[in-house]
Amino acid sequence: MAALEIVLVPALSDNYVYLLHDAGTGATAVVDPGEAPPVEAALAARGWTLTQIVNTHHHHDHTDGNDALKAKYGVPLVGPRAESARIAGMDVMVGDGDTVQVAGHSAIVYETPGHTTGHVSFHIPDSQALFCGDTLFALGCGRMFEGTPTQFWKSLSTLRALPSNTKIYCGHEYTQSNARFAVSVDGGNAKLKARAAEIDRLRAAKQPTVPSILADEFDTNPFLRADDPAMAAAVGMAGADPIAVFAEIRKRKDAF
Ligand code: ZN
Ligand code: FE
Repeated sequence: MAALEIVLVPALSDNYVYLLHDAGTGATAVVDPGEAPPVEAALAARGWTLTQIVNTHHHHDHTDGNDALKAKYGVPLVGPRAESARIAGMDVMVGDGDTVQVAGHSAIVYETPGHTTGHVSFHIPDSQALFCGDTLFALGCGRMFEGTPTQFWKSLSTLRALPSNTKIYCGHEYTQSNARFAVSVDGGNAKLKARAAEIDRLRAAKQPTVPSILADEFDTNPFLRADDPAMAAAVGMAGADPIAVFAEIRKRKDAF
């Protein structure tokens, strides 16, 4: 089966909604529709019909389009079992280790708490694609609204272990500000500085910086490197536990 065609749909101020389309069957899923109109426009422009909605977490900028799209297309909503009280209208509830069909392709579900307690991420191996909502961002990670550093570091460690060529489809275009922060804590990282320059070039040309590649995140995202001695030393915590280093980097980003 050919890889899914994946379309970025900018929504709200800085969200990315994704359309996942299987050209063979016509199956088309939407991930995290924070609003319906741009999704409807993107579908119409391609002559596609929506067949499924998928949510990573309960925040409104990822779910507010659910009802309108369900009403218009009559399609099922897939989301995290742990959020049955906070996401209305779920038809299929998933949790850690489940396999669920997304646009007819097998997706492995990982529970990735930290940004929210019930957050899940979807890995679609045959398309080398990860949909991780607000858990992992290009050069960053989500704010720790509900989880603990222990949970968040475990979640990021789980995602980091996926194949290094995995494309990271995250929930927001935050990369340029993430890059400024990353350089502030890891300015000696030559790969990071080169990536930050490339991001500035892309944004100056009004191009998306998403998806990124997991291998690049591994080398340049400070939140994925909390167990790297060089990263610990860079924040003055040589020899400290990775969870403590992660918590410190997250705290600094909140205040940046
Ligand atoms: Zn969120
Ligand atoms: Fe969000």
